[in-house]
Amino acid sequence: MECIYNLSLKELQEKLILKGFSRYSAKQIFAWVYKEKTQHFSLMTNIAKGKREELAKMFSFLNFKILKREKSKDGTQKYLFQLADQETIETVMIPEKQRNTLCVSTQVGCSFNCKFCASKIGGLIRNLSPAEIVNQYLQLSSQDKITNIVFMGIGEPLDNFKNVVKAIKILTEPAGINFTNKRISISTCGLSDKIKELVELNLGIKLSLSLHAAVDEKRTELMPVNKKHTLADLIDAVKYYSFKQKHPVTFEYILLDNFNTTSEDARKLAKLVKTTGAKLNLIPYNQTEEKLKTPQLEKVEAFKKKLKEEKVIFTLRKQRGFDINAACGQLRSFSKKAIKK
Ligand code: SAH
Repeated sequence: MECIYNLSLKELQEKLILKGFSRYSAKQIFAWVYKEKTQHFSLMTNIAKGKREELAKMFSFLNFKILKREKSKDGTQKYLFQLADQETIETVMIPEKQRNTLCVSTQVGCSFNCKFCASKIGGLIRNLSPAEIVNQYLQLSSQDKITNIVFMGIGEPLDNFKNVVKAIKILTEPAGINFTNKRISISTCGLSDKIKELVELNLGIKLSLSLHAAVDEKRTELMPVNKKHTLADLIDAVKYYSFKQKHPVTFEYILLDNFNTTSEDARKLAKLVKTTGAKLNLIPYNQTEEKLKTPQLEKVEAFKKKLKEEKVIFTLRKQRGFDINAACGQLRSFSKKAIKK
């Protein structure tokens, strides 16, 4: 049986038309599933009874088992979900004054091996299906009103391109959840070809790039992906994105002691920001490994001062959920395979 959460409205319509349903009733079914959030075809009272029985034979729903739920002292909540094949992912809900941000995972594990990130532990186990991405929203939206979705959990969203795009189409479909595309952000470690592919789809979502170093040598040391997708390629992709989408990309830059916080680093970073028109988000490092350290406050202030002198505007990301390992870079899978490695 197929999970109905894997289908976009168009796909559901195509499937059901072949079974003698009208395009309109397929849309009604989609609305039952995503607006009413019912998991019972028998409750779809505007669909003929015989047809409801047919639907129940065709489609299944999805519910993750919650293996663990933790709450940080700052209100951030982290869920450890178990998938049907026993693999696990983490999903985080970050409440703020005016908004609730859901941080979703896109893969079980990750293959990119960034030095500073815990999601790499155990490598990549598998991609999440569209249904598994959408269901992180469905399961947690029943508790809180979610205002923003960030694809910044475990995994590299653009490495699971097809399923991530499908999930976004399902989440933003007006006949269903109708989530505002401008309130969805994808963060990527920098797959330049996929960034360009994303532009062509014109989804109207926001894009962040995990930059973390403004020179190739340093970036490669932190992020092996930089060997293949160099800064020159990324700058090209980022320029293309902001030109076509008419919206700047956000550079994410983790501050790492004795690594990327000298005034020379700030100058090079400023140059990249200016040539691309990107926004800049500085991220305090959440310690996940011994060798990398957070800089002292004075160094951070000096770095910020240098950026200001260079006339670069930036924001500073707040650290949320650190006490329950729910902050950026701390999420990971606890699958048997991942633990064994
Ligand atoms: N694969 C994607 C999305 C996952 S990471 C990417 O690389 O962007 C989500 C965000 O957390 C990115 O900005 C990433 O650079 C940041 N991050 C990863 N590890 C971190 C750490 N230890 N401290 C702070 N931020 C971290």
